Amino acid sequence: MSNHDVQDIAAEHEALLQFLYLAPVGLVQTSLAGEVELMNPLSAQLLMPLSQDGGLSNLFKALESVAPELRRMSADFTNSQGTICEGLRAQLTAGIRGKQDPKMLGISLIKLDDDRMMAVLTDMTLMIAQEKQLKYNTAWLNAITVGVSDYALMSLDQNGKIHEWNPSIGRVLKYNAADIVGKSFSMFYHSSGISPERIVDYLKEADEDGWSLTEGWRIKGDGTQFWSSSMIVPIDDFTAQSDEITILAETHELSYALIMRDITDRNRDENAHLNAMSSDYLTGIANRRTLFEAAELEFRRWHRHPRPLSFMIIDADFFKKVNDTYGHAAGDLVLCHLATTLKDTMRDIDTVARIGGEEFAVLLPSTDLGGALQLAERFRKNVEAATVKSDGIEIKYTISIGISTMEATVNGFDALLDRADKALYEAKHSGRNMVKIWRS
Ligand code: GH3
Ligand code: MG
Ligand code: MG
Repeated sequence: MSNHDVQDIAAEHEALLQFLYLAPVGLVQTSLAGEVELMNPLSAQLLMPLSQDGGLSNLFKALESVAPELRRMSADFTNSQGTICEGLRAQLTAGIRGKQDPKMLGISLIKLDDDRMMAVLTDMTLMIAQEKQLKYNTAWLNAITVGVSDYALMSLDQNGKIHEWNPSIGRVLKYNAADIVGKSFSMFYHSSGISPERIVDYLKEADEDGWSLTEGWRIKGDGTQFWSSSMIVPIDDFTAQSDEITILAETHELSYALIMRDITDRNRDENAHLNAMSSDYLTGIANRRTLFEAAELEFRRWHRHPRPLSFMIIDADFFKKVNDTYGHAAGDLVLCHLATTLKDTMRDIDTVARIGGEEFAVLLPSTDLGGALQLAERFRKNVEAATVKSDGIEIKYTISIGISTMEATVNGFDALLDRADKALYEAKHSGRNMVKIWRS
């Protein structure tokens, strides 16, 4: 190699280091096991707050608490190179109401060859705030676009009872007018997808914000379900916007208009995309991101009208032993069993999420400490009594649960989570397979 070549290589190396140093994204080169080989300063800055032990020697370990699926995804990726995941979102903190947005880290992982991977990390905090705004704007536009064929319009009284409707109720929602008049709009929901408190929430939101918008599965008169965008607006706000509603408003002294649209088809692609982003890779239940989003909404509601809101963290006991005894694949089966049992025990309005490797959480609206305790105890017993079959072997396992409940001194979701975590710690240290509630 000539002297000149050596100089060229040195210059190129220098340029590469400069690039790494200045790159506006975090770049981390690792082994296939996640051992960090090279990282730029921004990566260190982004990952440091996540480190449990002050070190950053393994990427999977550093991200375990916020993106537990990463290790699995990379193990499942069998090609010798390519994208393992792109734009995976890891929620770091819930944010503080009115002061700070939730912090979000975007993670892409690329397999370079049979030995190395490269992670690209981006701080998505600002982007998420903008995206959320855009999503609201779009949904709002969807909901008020009149003159299309797939919306049903009703008027509601102060209590949310259906009073008047436009003819599309039959076409879009497959109900006869006689079936719906005088009933609460909760009739369009799955029974565990709404509570009396939630009905009041939606109406109050409409009063205070001018509109209340929700999307979700609703039921038609013929029993089929559809993905709906539903908007409730106080009628006064709407008189200038739509002739049809003006007529309703003038004929009867009513309080709200409810506009429901069937957006099943239009949103199918978008939903598949959203589902992939919002659910956990292994168990299919919600991930941390979805939990934090739900928590933000519940906290906003709580600050408007304080009412019971509880939270629990569930952690599998001695899970390392399960893996060591039966193998990692059997461990995965147990985690899926835990997720399914949890989901089956809770109501539709509860948010059931996987928040770490063998750690799950449930956000429980309209549930006080006593209710949460009963529920947790019932679930704990169910798990204790169950067996998971893996390759003909029967596996028994137990869980510990920590519970916290919302009150004025809880400053944000991170604090509620922290309390449940402390209660969980107590359950672990008192012998495991038990439920503890947070005490100051
Ligand atoms: P404790 O009762 O104190 O909670 O003990 P533990 O062994 O459950 O807790 P620890 O945090 O020491 O170990 C958690 C284990 O969970 C280690 C890790 O390998 C395993 N784990 C994390 N994610 C997964 C996963 O996706 N699949 C499987 N099979 N195991 C996982
Ligand atoms: Mg555990
Ligand atoms: Mg744990």
